[in-house]
Amino acid sequence: MSRPVILALNAGSSSLKFELFAADSDETLGHGIVECIGRDDACVRLHDGKGGNLPVPDGQPADHAAALQLTLDSLRAAFPDIRVVAVGHRVVHGGVHFDGPVIVDDEVMARIEALDPFAPLHQPHNIAGIRAAGAAFPGVPQIACFDTAFHRTQPLVNDTFALPSRFYDEGVRRYGFHGLSYDYITSELKRIAPLIAAGRVVIAHLGNGASMCAVQSGRSVASTMGFTALDGLPMGTRCGQLDPGVVLYLMEQRGMTTDQVRRLLYEDSGLLGLSGGLSNDMRTLERAGTPEAQRAIDYFVFRIQRELGAMAAAMGGIDALVFCGGIGENSRLVRARVCERTEWMGLEVDHGRNARNETIISSEMSRAHVMVVPTQEELVIARAARRLLNLPGQGG
Ligand code: AMP
Repeated sequence: MSRPVILALNAGSSSLKFELFAADSDETLGHGIVECIGRDDACVRLHDGKGGNLPVPDGQPADHAAALQLTLDSLRAAFPDIRVVAVGHRVVHGGVHFDGPVIVDDEVMARIEALDPFAPLHQPHNIAGIRAAGAAFPGVPQIACFDTAFHRTQPLVNDTFALPSRFYDEGVRRYGFHGLSYDYITSELKRIAPLIAAGRVVIAHLGNGASMCAVQSGRSVASTMGFTALDGLPMGTRCGQLDPGVVLYLMEQRGMTTDQVRRLLYEDSGLLGLSGGLSNDMRTLERAGTPEAQRAIDYFVFRIQRELGAMAAAMGGIDALVFCGGIGENSRLVRARVCERTEWMGLEVDHGRNARNETIISSEMSRAHVMVVPTQEELVIARAARRLLNLPGQGG
């Protein structure tokens, strides 16, 4: 008999991440990624539930539909007895309408498409993923899970810009992103540390994209990202917070076009730009040890410390700082440096625990906890599908 499974898809501009879950539990059967979609070096990688490599068919997918087909061919070859009962999607923008996951129908699809102008670099790929999955699995429910939804609880002062209020009314708001990651960390804290989860928690999602969120009693009250996934912390190639006057200068005085400015802010800035073009990858910067690499790491750390103060201020204090994302989960250096000057907030790291990547890395003397919790965005998608479709199973 075929095994019912949920497929979670995370379609980016040139990649498609996927994970296969049992339909009745949090068990992951396999996960992988199709990279460099549309290029000659496109390829798929597939791992089993324990991280071992699985064989994959050859193929250079030209678009997202072909990437999904390659994904399905790989999964069917590796797991011949599965039956997909739901497909869950990460959708970057849910606008003001969506404060939780939904089953996709024509009306939902139209609303997701209408948000295209708010996230032109991400939303079209999410939509392409939904269309491709709809064609591949006719009649199978598709679930949209929004990165913005977790932040819809934020008070007006954190939701608005100081622009004339008509702009707020038409949707120019601080939406915040990385919501699936914050959702997962919040539910995981409830499971492993309920007292901390009930308090004032700052979550630092530090990966190639990076943001921070103030979560009070399980609800988002402030975050560093704003209208787009460009604001807040510096990222691999994105600039983070920037005086809007710089954009005016670049366009008016330097004659840069919107395309040039967009490329500058999204692709050439952040760690890559600050390191003089050396790398957007924290591992490379840590190894390089050059003044340029140091400058990029210094700026990254400083902005995290600055925003940590801002997030704590939004909650009137802090009970725990949680690191996640590729850098947060793995870089002992960044974690130690972020907490170097945070004793005033009651945060003190135990360097032995930090070096061992333990879950709690704060010292016995630390008033607030410092933790490392690996995030699992795809699991949030699978759980949402299970909940919306009333499938039996464990997990939040
Ligand atoms: P993500 O986007 O969450 O996959 O995170 C990617 C980022 O995590 C990149 O900047 C990587 O260099 C960084 N990263 C992954 N592993 C490590 C590590 N062991 N030490 C430092 N940075 C790491």
